[in-house]
Amino acid sequence: MRILYPFAKRFIAGEDRATAVKNIKSLYDQGFLCTVDVLGESVHTEDQALAAKNEYLALLKDIASFHRPVDISAKVSALGMDISYDLCKKNVEDLIDAVGHHTVRFDMEGSDLTARTLKLGLELQKTHKNLGVVLQAYLRRTDQDIQSVIDQGVSTRLCKGAYKEPETLAYQSMNEIRKNFLKQAFRLLKEGNLPAIATHDEILIEQIRDFIEKENIPRESFYFELLYGVRRDIQQALLNKGYQVRIYVPYGKAWLPYTLRRLAERKENIIFVVKNLIRETLGLSKVK
Ligand SMILES: Cc1cc2nc3c(=O)[nH]c(=O)nc-3n(C[C@H](O)[C@H](O)[C@H](O)COP(=O)(O)OP(=O)(O)OC[C@H]3O[C@@H](n4cnc5c(N)ncnc54)[C@H](O)[C@@H]3O)c2cc1C
Repeated sequence: MRILYPFAKRFIAGEDRATAVKNIKSLYDQGFLCTVDVLGESVHTEDQALAAKNEYLALLKDIASFHRPVDISAKVSALGMDISYDLCKKNVEDLIDAVGHHTVRFDMEGSDLTARTLKLGLELQKTHKNLGVVLQAYLRRTDQDIQSVIDQGVSTRLCKGAYKEPETLAYQSMNEIRKNFLKQAFRLLKEGNLPAIATHDEILIEQIRDFIEKENIPRESFYFELLYGVRRDIQQALLNKGYQVRIYVPYGKAWLPYTLRRLAERKENIIFVVKNLIRETLGLSKVK
């Protein structure tokens, strides 16, 4: 699968921490904020979960001197949730102890993990304020989950959702997903604690901007979030308009599952990869 790396490179800030931190610094110099993800998902041994935690701890050390806050995006499956809830909780607590003025946020994964991820987030946030969660607008249950995060004041990122889910659990049509995204975004913007609106969908962004203006929502009270390497034009335009823009920056060697999700989101991405494969196979590269 190394053949996909030229495509993956556009979406990840490097395979190693030093390169990623350099790229993150450059984004901060340009005025962006970041949420940083160490790539990797479901682990099956305690040692693998420990290795994931240790990489986050090393990252937190490297960014300790950043004055502006950095959000850390972690997957509970990488920190051992599929081995045991308590192991994962212990690993997360170790991260929180080291987080300083930054924040740990749980990415939301497939629906088999939703209830456990949210339970852990709500439980730990009672005592550790620098903790955030993510909710997915395609899930039907999000309507209730939004109320829980609002009631408890948990900082929440709202995204559409990137996993294949059955109709019983998730809206399938883009119209329904957009409708639910807007409904939940408006609730978070009015009543939530530092929500992040995570989308590149211009229709949603425009309607959210209209809502913010109409409701006089202060720009310091929320973030727009976009993925590293996706729609840099929108990232820059939002920053120029004076919004807080946070970029989701993944790095690490385990880039394949993340890259496949980005690939699946857009047929142009698949065309790009297929074109490059053909070019390479037929020896059509201009650089000989
Ligand atoms: C900051 C951030 C954090 C996220 N965290 C999570 C999470 O924790 N859990 C989860 O399930 N999902 C997460 N996602 C992914 C999200 O759920 C969607 O799968 C993804 O954002 C695409 O949806 P969209 O809202 O951008 O709209 P879309 O309608 O998919 O895209 C809108 C436009 O954005 C551009 N675009 C979108 N995706 C791509 C791409 N891959 N390559 C090139 N252009 C693209 C295109 O111009 C497209 O027309 C996150 C997304 C963001 C932005």
